[in-house]
Amino acid sequence: MAGEPQPDCVFCKIVAGEIPATVVRKTERTLAFRDIAPKAPVHVLVIPHVHYANAAELAAAEPGIAAELLAEAGAVAKDEGLRDYRLIFNTGAGAGQTVFHAHVHVLGGTSMTERMV
Ligand code: 5GP
Repeated sequence: MAGEPQPDCVFCKIVAGEIPATVVRKTERTLAFRDIAPKAPVHVLVIPHVHYANAAELAAAEPGIAAELLAEAGAVAKDEGLRDYRLIFNTGAGAGQTVFHAHVHVLGGTSMTERMV
């Protein structure tokens, strides 16, 4: 069923506590944790607890949670002391998406004018 945990999904396992992660924020519907392979001094992923393949599918099915994802991304940036930062939603393998559970990258702590993930 849409939104249900997927047994082979690494982010569902992080939500379930089956894989450890460095969690920086948690709400009833979202989780923010540090990327295991950071591409910038601050690199945090914000994910919904529910499983959707990407952020657009999440927004179509659960617009309230998608809005919360964005609000939490802003809160992470504030917590991390970032004034300038980049939010990235890779969508599809051809765009570099490797984990097919909706997430937004929060990247900052260095000049972001040239960088891409
Ligand atoms: P994508 O390429 O799908 O947009 O981003 C997936 C991100 O998840 C990558 O930046 C990757 O480093 C991160 N990642 C993959 N597996 C794990 C994990 O087990 N723990 C954490 N903290 N990050 C992960």
